[in-house]
Amino acid sequence: MISVKQALNIIENESRPLSNNIIDVRNSVGCCLNQEVISKIDMPPFNQSAMDGYALNYDISLTTYNIIGELKAGDDCSKINLKKGESIRIFTGAAVPKGANTVIQQEWCNNNNNILSFNKMIKDSLNIREKGEQIKQGDTILYKNHIINPASIGLISTVGINNINIIRKPKIAIVITGDELIKTTDKIQNAKIFESNSSMLYGALNKYGYNDINFYFTKDNKKQTELTISKAINENDIILVSGGISVGDYDFVKSAFDQLNVKEQFYKINQKPGKPLFFGTKNNKYIFGLPGNPGASLTCFYIYVLKCLSLISKKKYPLKKIKVNLISTYIKKGGRAEFVKVKVNNNEAEICSHQSSSMLLSFAKADALIFIDENISKVSNKDYLDAYMLL
Ligand code: AMP
Ligand code: MG
Repeated sequence: MISVKQALNIIENESRPLSNNIIDVRNSVGCCLNQEVISKIDMPPFNQSAMDGYALNYDISLTTYNIIGELKAGDDCSKINLKKGESIRIFTGAAVPKGANTVIQQEWCNNNNNILSFNKMIKDSLNIREKGEQIKQGDTILYKNHIINPASIGLISTVGINNINIIRKPKIAIVITGDELIKTTDKIQNAKIFESNSSMLYGALNKYGYNDINFYFTKDNKKQTELTISKAINENDIILVSGGISVGDYDFVKSAFDQLNVKEQFYKINQKPGKPLFFGTKNNKYIFGLPGNPGASLTCFYIYVLKCLSLISKKKYPLKKIKVNLISTYIKKGGRAEFVKVKVNNNEAEICSHQSSSMLLSFAKADALIFIDENISKVSNKDYLDAYMLL
């Protein structure tokens, strides 16, 4: 059995970035940019008023100006040229005409029958956003490997670009196995449980911006398990199979992987929860056999699947790792590394109850997973430990 560190190293070495794709910039939030973005325009594209007020041909010797007209946002001012003693009513975002060298906000102005005077000291160069003051034509505004955030989308749109080249978003399969599982919309039945891993993994994927998700379901039957996993591999980049990866007589996932020539990268990690985790590859596809126990499944998602997804999408692994001070004692059984659910308050971590891999009750309220190495047998008050923040 390999260690947590070895498993993470294998994922790191095997996960290669996906191909690239040109998409509508509006759909690119969270994606890794695969091009430089160069602006074809100045921004602002013209001298622009930053206030509602009056644009003037300012001259230190004058105290009043004639108001010759009005310019609102979007009005063409190319035929206007203010001369000495002239001003024009102007609004925020409007183009400042030739001959205007300052904009005075309306709160400082008095308009008396189109003669403008002022109740404050005025001067030139006020309230004009200069053409190109933010971006000059030909400037590189974003670089390759930048992760697109909402401001980036605004910035790219600002310079009139609709489509951009990004690292493709992964297509993700969630494959659910288990004869005991019924839909949450079904009536509860004897010996059956509501299937919850598909919605849990769907939510986890969505939280980190992965939303191209397909669902597959199979009974615990060798042929159907093989066919379903085969279809999921053909149709997706990353395949998350839930359950059926242990050694029970009705666990057919491992034999399906073997049958389908999935190359085993690792199977079983010296950890709790999630010992039976499988990771394999086939033709640039990444295949995880997640334990069916919900707590184990989600832990493996956070630590391993999310790592692989980040690498193939060229994104930063999103879980922040911080050091926390433990304020409780925890005795480990056996020599496995453990991921333990904790509540965190001002870097102080309190261990939650109900740590079992089959349970989600405390996981649902936990802030972080602390990592306890395999060779540590007990952690106690004031111990300083690594925590993966789940927020
Ligand atoms: P398995 O890994 O298939 O042996 O399943 C381990 C435990 O997890 C069993 O108690 C299952 O009933 C439970 N389980 C497996 N898959 C799911 C699922 N999709 N939703 C909820 N519980 C599950
Ligand atoms: Mg099962």
